Amino acid sequence: MNRNREDRRTSAADSDRYLIGRYHEVALKGRNRWRFVDELKRNVVAAFADHQLGGLRGAGPRLMVRLPASLSDEVAKERAARIFGLQNFSIGHRVPLEISAIERAALAAAQALIRTSCGSELTFRILARRAEKRFPLDSVAIQRTLGATIVRELGLKVNLGHPDLVVAIEILPEGAYVSGGKLAGAGGLPVGTTGQGAVLLSGGIDSPVAAYRMMRRGMRLNFIHFHSYPLVSSASRDKARDLAAALTSYEAHSTLMLVPFAEIQRSIVARAPRFLRVVLYRRFMLRIAGALGVAMGAQALVTGESLGQVASQTLENMTVIEQAASIPVIRPLIGMDKNEIIVEARRLGTFETSILPDEDCCSLFVPSHPATRARLEEVTAAEGMLEIAQMVDDAVARSEAVHNLFPAAATHAAQSDASSPALRRHELQ
Ligand code: ATP
Ligand code: MG
Repeated sequence: MNRNREDRRTSAADSDRYLIGRYHEVALKGRNRWRFVDELKRNVVAAFADHQLGGLRGAGPRLMVRLPASLSDEVAKERAARIFGLQNFSIGHRVPLEISAIERAALAAAQALIRTSCGSELTFRILARRAEKRFPLDSVAIQRTLGATIVRELGLKVNLGHPDLVVAIEILPEGAYVSGGKLAGAGGLPVGTTGQGAVLLSGGIDSPVAAYRMMRRGMRLNFIHFHSYPLVSSASRDKARDLAAALTSYEAHSTLMLVPFAEIQRSIVARAPRFLRVVLYRRFMLRIAGALGVAMGAQALVTGESLGQVASQTLENMTVIEQAASIPVIRPLIGMDKNEIIVEARRLGTFETSILPDEDCCSLFVPSHPATRARLEEVTAAEGMLEIAQMVDDAVARSEAVHNLFPAAATHAAQSDASSPALRRHELQ
């Protein structure tokens, strides 16, 4: 083939490169679907806020986003895999509704898949969907025609049950979308569809996993970390910063509040019985987190507690601790074993940060035999010796806010509400 013609074709195809996202099916049920789709669109715009997306269009159970040439397939895939609410997605090309154009694109998609696959004797299948019923071939006919072409031209074998490669064709009124394979999406519900929360983020393994689980269920989260700096090193603060930044890659923007806790601990140590210290620390954490969380719009607090894991997580202690909270406390890991939590933390990529050494504020001045069954009366009696409101107000006033954006280079018009110009600009239909 003449080289110039090939170059022209490549660049034309490039400008018609699309991210094709398919909604997680849970969301297709019910009357709230429009809200789900709107929020998902907003989140897609936010995930690519450092690139000029060409257009965004919802079509049935799919979302089509035109990708600019500046965005590589790799980055597009990495970002798309973090958008909750997508069951799966593909990167593909849009071609005119002509079988010859679709055939060429399907061959190109299969060739690209072969290049990135290992092994010989590769098998494949074509998966066609015809939403535009005016197209003359139905989905079975499309599959047969294109399947035969790929067998003839590339020598692959068909395997409908367990193919190595899948070429997907979606026929819509504006064109045919042809993509090589479907990649697993993040599942869950789009961030922002189920409410707002504030996570108590320690530097440990559990709380980042708890945060991930609630974001995946559609909650938008901010973070709160208590530290005893300068009584201890700044390690836990640094870890909380890193963890909050990593988790923000799922929700585009967040705020981490760093709360100085040493003064409160000093007061508790000076005036309350030794065996109640841990329970009292935790009650103060919930009071302060409630105040900061509500100011940031939170409807609930989220913790990484798991039943029986440590002394403060007995049923009795959690009940007494929770009683100090002004808003509900959600514990997504309550029934999980530590090993299960670790597997998830590794998969998320937070584990390596979480296991870096630090000195958590809760380990400071902790008695060797803390109460495992604190009673509310003894706890409130002990708190009678403390200036609770003053201590909470002081900690709130001395908190520092750290703002996180993902992608870091974005200007984020995406801290958006429904009237976001970023969304309006991209909603072409
Ligand atoms: P680990 O993985 O070591 O158990 P953890 O973060 O779960 O770490 P726990 O002592 O089990 O630590 O604390 C239970 C929960 O209380 C945490 O998951 C977190 O939500 C909250 N928490 C504990 N310490 C802090 C802290 N310093 N700042 C914010 N939240 C904290
Ligand atoms: Mg824990």
